[in-house]
Amino acid sequence: MEENQKIPGEKIASIEEYLPGDNTFEDKDSIRATTIGKINLDSSERSASINRQKQITVPNVGDVIIGVVEANLPSMIAIMIKYVNGKKVVADLECICVTRHIRKKNIALAKDVVKAEIISHINGTIHASIDSQELGVLFTKCRKCFGTVVKMRDAVKCKDCGWIDDRKLSTEFGKNDFLTQN
Ligand SMILES: [Zn+2]
Repeated sequence: MEENQKIPGEKIASIEEYLPGDNTFEDKDSIRATTIGKINLDSSERSASINRQKQITVPNVGDVIIGVVEANLPSMIAIMIKYVNGKKVVADLECICVTRHIRKKNIALAKDVVKAEIISHINGTIHASIDSQELGVLFTKCRKCFGTVVKMRDAVKCKDCGWIDDRKLSTEFGKNDFLTQN
């Protein structure tokens, strides 16, 4: 956290020097923050206020997220969250999805777009699952030539080179056309 970044309850100035401004409260001889944000000391107005920070959306357990696979490890994938319950998120937030129980060779590749459900928060790490039918890969490319792939039962086939590969596909694979625009 930056030095001029304040958290609720933190002292930002003393009442002898400044008047309490936006997002602050008076506590005896101190002015304290009521919200997370940057401190703003206005010497001409003699006011101390907090510029409220953009809200960081941390998904709750049960929320459905759409994200981009950042890393594809033998027993898990790391997903950069882009949407929470269909709403675009501003801050970069990552979740981890354990995949060791899924019997697929290539569950999802790096840069694939996946849909997942948040299942827990443990020690500051957000855990998600792609086990349900509607969860999993929404958008992927050919592993060999990066060509466009089409769904073939529970696998994908490259339109360009014909390579057939498996993925943990969502039943909504290929239906979210807005994702390919990003
Ligand atoms: Zn290909």
